[in-house]
Amino acid sequence: MSECLFCRIVAGEVPATVVAETPRTLAFRDIGPQAPTHVLVVPRDHHADAGACADADPALLGEVMAAAVAVARQEGLDGGYRLLTNTGDDGGQTVHHLHVHVLGGRPLGALG
Ligand code: 5GP
Ligand code: ZN
Repeated sequence: MSECLFCRIVAGEVPATVVAETPRTLAFRDIGPQAPTHVLVVPRDHHADAGACADADPALLGEVMAAAVAVARQEGLDGGYRLLTNTGDDGGQTVHHLHVHVLGGRPLGALG
């Protein structure tokens, strides 16, 4: 059994509220939402972060971003939204399996 939380969600070993899926990605609601819509989009394959995925499979990084846009549209975020991927310790990454946050449903303001 994988020790990676998001690998375990992809495998169905940890429950999550799935909102969309593609052959190589999965989208599920964040357990601690920071906005009315807060969805995480992950590749099914394990890549620790955006850099690792860019090196190993750059097309997959594009698929994850495209899937995130599709989720934003599906969630009706017509007023705009934020796509965010924290990378490494200084980036504030806490789960070391690449994920793009899809945030929206209220004015998000400037970063910081
Ligand atoms: P990071 O800080 O790595 O960019 O984002 C990790 C995100 O994963 C956080 O927003 C956190 O709320 C979310 N998260 C942590 N554990 C779980 C979980 O078990 N299920 C779900 N759905 N989200 C989780
Ligand atoms: Zn993983």
